Amino acid sequence: MRDVGEPDESELSVTAPKTWATGAPAVVHALQYALGQTSPKRTALTLLNINQTKGFDCPGCAWPEPGPGHRHRNEYCENGAKHIGDEATSRRVTADFFRQYSVDELSRKSDYWLNQQGRLTEPMVLREGATHYEPIGWDEALDLLAGELRALDHPDEALFYTSGRLANEPAFLLQLFVRAFGTNNLPDCSNMCHESSGSALNETLGIGKGSVSLDDLYDCDLVFVVGQNPGTNHPRMLSALEETKRRGGHVVAVNPLPEAGLLRFKHPQKARGIIGRGTDIADQFLQIRPGGDLALFQALNLLLLEAEDKEPGTVLDRDFIEAHSTGYDAFAEHIRATSWDAVLEATGLSRDEIERVHERVLASRSVIVCWAMGLTQHKHGVPTIREVVNFLLLRGNIGRPGAGVCPVRGHSNVQGDRTMGIWERMPQPFLDRLGREFGFTAPARHGLDSVDSVRAMLDGRAKLFVGVAGNFVRASPDSDATERALRNCRLTAHISTKLNRSHAVCGGTALILPTLGRSDRDVQAGGEQFMTVEDSMSEVHATRGRLAPASAHLLSEVSIISRLARKVLGSGPDIPWADFEADYDLVRDRISRVVEGFADFNERVRRPGGFRLPNPVNERVFRTPAGKAVFTVNDFTMLQAPPGHLVLQTLRSHDQWNTIPYAMDDRYRGIKGGRRVVLVNGTDLAELGLDDGSLVDLVSVWTDGSERRADAFRVVAYPTPRGSAAAYYPETNVLVPLDSVADISNTPTSKSVIIRLERAADRAPV
Ligand code: SF4
Repeated sequence: MRDVGEPDESELSVTAPKTWATGAPAVVHALQYALGQTSPKRTALTLLNINQTKGFDCPGCAWPEPGPGHRHRNEYCENGAKHIGDEATSRRVTADFFRQYSVDELSRKSDYWLNQQGRLTEPMVLREGATHYEPIGWDEALDLLAGELRALDHPDEALFYTSGRLANEPAFLLQLFVRAFGTNNLPDCSNMCHESSGSALNETLGIGKGSVSLDDLYDCDLVFVVGQNPGTNHPRMLSALEETKRRGGHVVAVNPLPEAGLLRFKHPQKARGIIGRGTDIADQFLQIRPGGDLALFQALNLLLLEAEDKEPGTVLDRDFIEAHSTGYDAFAEHIRATSWDAVLEATGLSRDEIERVHERVLASRSVIVCWAMGLTQHKHGVPTIREVVNFLLLRGNIGRPGAGVCPVRGHSNVQGDRTMGIWERMPQPFLDRLGREFGFTAPARHGLDSVDSVRAMLDGRAKLFVGVAGNFVRASPDSDATERALRNCRLTAHISTKLNRSHAVCGGTALILPTLGRSDRDVQAGGEQFMTVEDSMSEVHATRGRLAPASAHLLSEVSIISRLARKVLGSGPDIPWADFEADYDLVRDRISRVVEGFADFNERVRRPGGFRLPNPVNERVFRTPAGKAVFTVNDFTMLQAPPGHLVLQTLRSHDQWNTIPYAMDDRYRGIKGGRRVVLVNGTDLAELGLDDGSLVDLVSVWTDGSERRADAFRVVAYPTPRGSAAAYYPETNVLVPLDSVADISNTPTSKSVIIRLERAADRAPV
């Protein structure tokens, strides 16, 4: 079954982008992928259990499920079916595989090929100076890792990276172990995606999470979907937006690309979705320039202030502003100086388009703004989200039904991991409660985030990297620097379900520690266990694996972390690691005493559908220093591409999950059989003297005069906004230097990269 060839980019073909998403083709593609990975019986078992109250949580995005009484028998999307098919694959990576391929050979394989090899089956070690991984027993592997950790001069020389696949219980234990060990070095994938959201929301509303529920979304009069492509990245969001519209609400979509899922949705489980026209999603689509969103919301705020001037007391929610906010006067003074010329240049929109949105806002009692990476991964990502909050505060669209903020998370438990303490800057009250509960003093000094972790590995401050889930090498910006950083480590270790490039970019010694997936049954000394996750809307619920594990040699993440902690901490704090490993209820008991909102965790999470964490914002309680919501003053700087240059945004294809392509296609955008493509507006192409189909190198240019190159991309004429381009990550991560980050949040600026296109034929010979 291993006969998976490397993709051949010469087979690339391009057709017109689709104007609707999902429908029958989504069902066909999902089943094709799942059945290509495993048997019909195993496929049926996974699909019957995914997102069901007694089944397992989809390991894909963090979109919530409807309540138990309202859940569909097939409560998953095309991509959810692919994710679970990918995990439940019958393909296996065994010791023979590692005997066959050296690490050097693996490092030259594509992300696609590596993933297609299947599930990891036993612990492996790459010993100092060796060319191949070899099998190692669990005890020896964990002794090796523990010995290296204990040999460090200081705990801050170790890094513990987490991706959003980790469920709540192992996440809680991981941060407990890491802090008991003595460091806050807990970088995570959130550093590279929604960190800007957390920074802006913490500052303005006092909590770094979204405030809305699915019911709010259904009952909202006007939903903004900004910098987001739900058709690919959170497909079931389209069902929710369809329901919003069915109840009379409206949708404004703001995005550089006219994505199929923003335009029309054909519900695959409804007759009207299969044979009918489907539902128009966006009532108004604003094709904005990358990074123009801050200017757009400032213009909308200006229009609201001017409307209030004309008819005082009818537009703004004065009672809310006076009772619950601070900073309004400085904000209003700043907004009144907004220049329309600058707004129109930054957004690429017409004044008429913006004024039509304004009319919709005036006609709407309740408004929600949803967003994703299109807002966060810019230098001004944090100010942009602060301006979104200003916009909502003006009409009291915070803390009442049908209104609020909705940052949509891209990985299933990335929000839960933060709640559990996976953050390099966890607030002191959390650290104090953790220390009191377990009898030690958690370190107070902040740890390193993802970008700073790369720097620390490069300059030798960090010597040991442990990746718990995820694919750090491919998720990080500046691929060359990240690979050098990992190779500079004394030891790298990865707790993983499947092979990825991070396993082939090794420190002096490297470990692969294979673990259970979401769909695998987890049986410990205390019997069969379940875990819990938190979705984008703060709903916490159980997830129970139902399949026989991929190998008898796998350990759960809870087991690996607990066993490692015992070996490393020895006679340290009196923490019952063996009991935690045997019975996850005991972990949940401790979570209920340390993490706010988790009282009676074990009892409440056993209710069908679990429970929703309280969000004080919904009671109009704002935990900011002023005790109020905060209006902020935000300046926008227009990203200016020099003549002959374009602003590139990186994005996912439809057949991709985070860093892993499942296929070489991007169905909705009409791309088939290749990923090294750059989408460029046809008029820009003509001005640049390039043809559709030309082969070019992408060269990014930076203010310090440096340049970076990604070779051999096929130009595709595409309806991007004038002056901009789009290409897939992680192939284009190499273009983003480590130092190009968002202000405040340190998130890589992967949505605003200035590039020029150079004909590959003109490339100087190496
Ligand atoms: S919307 Fe997200 S969580 Fe739901 S099935 Fe699809 S990928 Fe999974």
